[in-house]
Amino acid sequence: MSDLSTPNCPKQSIYNITLKDLSDWLIEQGEKSFRATQIWNWLYVKRVDTFSEMSDLSISTRWLLDKHFSLTTMVEDTLQRSKDGTIKCLLKLSDGNLIETVLMKHAYGLSICVTTQVGCNIGCTFCASGLLTKSRDLTAGEIVEQVRYMQKKLDLEADKKRVSHIVVMGIGEPFDNYDNVLRFIRIVNHPQGLAIGARHITVSTSGLDRKIRAFAHEGLQVNLALSLHAANNELRTRIMKLNKAIPIEKLMEAVDYYLDQTNRRITFEYILLKDVNDLESSAFDLANLILARNRLHLIHVNLIPYNPVHEFDHYKRSESKAIHRFVSILRAQGINAVVRGEHGTDIDAACGQLRSKQLKARAAIRPIAIGINS
Ligand code: SAH
Ligand code: SF4
Repeated sequence: MSDLSTPNCPKQSIYNITLKDLSDWLIEQGEKSFRATQIWNWLYVKRVDTFSEMSDLSISTRWLLDKHFSLTTMVEDTLQRSKDGTIKCLLKLSDGNLIETVLMKHAYGLSICVTTQVGCNIGCTFCASGLLTKSRDLTAGEIVEQVRYMQKKLDLEADKKRVSHIVVMGIGEPFDNYDNVLRFIRIVNHPQGLAIGARHITVSTSGLDRKIRAFAHEGLQVNLALSLHAANNELRTRIMKLNKAIPIEKLMEAVDYYLDQTNRRITFEYILLKDVNDLESSAFDLANLILARNRLHLIHVNLIPYNPVHEFDHYKRSESKAIHRFVSILRAQGINAVVRGEHGTDIDAACGQLRSKQLKARAAIRPIAIGINS
C-alpha cells in the first residue's frame, strides 16, 4: 500500500484507505478479501471507535488492524452551536493543527462543509482562511474523518439523521490538494461506505484552470462551483490575488472546456461586497461573461452575502437594495441566479473565522505562534 501517513501519527489512518486497497492489503496479509467489506461496514455504517468492537472478525484480524491502522486522528477542540442548528467544530489534528468542520441543517437535508488544507495560499482579500498561509495539505483520511466525526454527533441525537450532502468549501483550496480531495470523494461516495451520492457533493474552487480541466475527466457526477466574485480582471485581481496568475480569459477557457467535456452544470459563486463588486456595471460584466459562454442552462449564479470578517474592515456587506438590483439584472438576461441562504450567523460563520479567531486569542495568551504542535 502506498504511503498515506498522517503527520505525527505513528499508524496509518484507516480512513485513507479505499475499499479496494484494503481488500488488496488483507489478501497480502493472508486474510480473505471480503473482510474489507465487513471492516468498512463497522467503520462507516455502524461507526465504531475501536477495532475490538468488530465482532465478526477474528481476534487475530482485529489485532492485525490495530497494529497497522489508527481509528482516530483528531479530537474536538471547540464547538459552537447556532440557533438555526448549525454546528461548527474546531478539530485538533494529530500534529496540533486546528481545522474547521461545519454541519448545516437545510430543508433538503444535512450538509457538511469540510476543510481540505491547514490555511490557504490563494490570497483572497475577504477570506479569514487566507489570513494564515497554508502549513500543509490534509490527507484524504483527515477529510473523511471530518464527515464521520459529524455523523457520529448526529448518531447521538434522538432522530439519528444522516449526512446527505457534502460541500468542499471549508478552509483551503481543494484543487491545490487535488489527489487527496479526489480520493476523499471516492471514499465517501462508495456505496459500501458513507454512500453520499456524487450529485450531493459539491467542490468549490477559486479557479485553478488546469485542475478544472483535469476534473472534467474524472468521470464523476460531483458538482463544481467556481468562486468568481468579479467578472473583470482589474476588480478580480483586487479581490483575489490568484487572478494575476490565472486571469479571467484563461479561467473561462477552462470553464468552456469543462462544459464541453462533461455537459454538467457549473455554479459561479459571487460574494457581494458593498460598493466593490455589487454595482450595476459589475452585474452587466458578469451577465456578459456568462452569455458569452453560450450555455445559459449550464451556468448558475450563487450570490453570497458577505460574512463580515473583523480583520477586514475594508469590506462591508451589500445592502439589500444592491443585492436585489444585482440579481434582477442577471435574471433579466435569462441567467439563473439565486441569493444563498445563510447559516450560523450568530456564530463565527465565515469560512476560517472560528479558527483564525481562536488562534489569535491563544497567541495573545501565549506569546508563541500556535497552529502547529500546540
Ligand atoms: N477555496 C475554495 C473553497 C473554500 S472557500 C474557494 O475559494 O472556492 C468556499 C466559499 O466561501 C468561496 O466561494 C468563498 O469565496 C466563500 N467565502 C470565504 N470567505 C467568505 C466570507 N467572509 N463571506 C462569505 N463567503 C466567504
Ligand atoms: Fe482560500 Fe477559498 Fe478563502 Fe480564497 S476563499 S483564501 S481560495 S479558502
